[in-house]
Amino acid sequence: CGIVGYIGKRDVAPLLLEGLQRLEYRGYDSAGIAVTSPKAAGLKTVKAKGRVRDLEAKVPARFKGTTGIAHTRWATHGAPSDVNAHPHLDAEGKVAVVHNGIIDNASDLRRKLEADGVEFLSETDTEVLVHLISRSQAEKLEDKVRETLRVIEGTYGIAVLHADFPDRIVVARNGSPVVLGIGEKEMFVASDIAALVAHTRQIVTLDDGEMATLKADDFRTYTTEGTRTTAEPTTVEWEA
Ligand code: GLU
Repeated sequence: CGIVGYIGKRDVAPLLLEGLQRLEYRGYDSAGIAVTSPKAAGLKTVKAKGRVRDLEAKVPARFKGTTGIAHTRWATHGAPSDVNAHPHLDAEGKVAVVHNGIIDNASDLRRKLEADGVEFLSETDTEVLVHLISRSQAEKLEDKVRETLRVIEGTYGIAVLHADFPDRIVVARNGSPVVLGIGEKEMFVASDIAALVAHTRQIVTLDDGEMATLKADDFRTYTTEGTRTTAEPTTVEWEA
């Protein structure tokens, strides 16, 4: 339902929680957050059924990071619960994915992955994305995501965090909105500009079939086939 992400120098958890609050009007049943930083040894995650304030209450005092992704969920596959809330993680806790939309061939892919020994933690369609990215042999995170998108059918706005690539967030869109917020040595992503305008008015809207890599001081957009696309930020007017 709602996605917010940030990469930069600021303490990320309060920023993302505030972003999620701004998406509350869309309605949701659970929420979650994953954070890391260039120096961190891995990802930290908290998820909670209920409101953003229920999530906030579960976030420990020391939940530090400068890069993160967060989600509010409107359940389509699997009941609202702590476990089914996003982000979803692989067994090693290295890959975290938040997803808006519906993966149509999720049960097919899940059956294949389970036959291959993959253990699923949730009942969501989203979780197949995490395992496919995690198992990809491609070297670059962008290629791991691209390989995964090639085998899935359905709609998505996704944001991906990988502990081995702490300098970036990779996002993709097909049928579910993804907008980038371009800042000064910091970048934002969200499913709705309402979550961004408190921080920047420089916006790039992804098209269907488009992906982006966000780094703190740089971003680039390209198609799911890997062809670079031009993305000139536009300045949005917004009454706060
Ligand atoms: N289909 C996913 C789920 O049920 C994502 C739903 C959403 O867009 O929030 O978890």
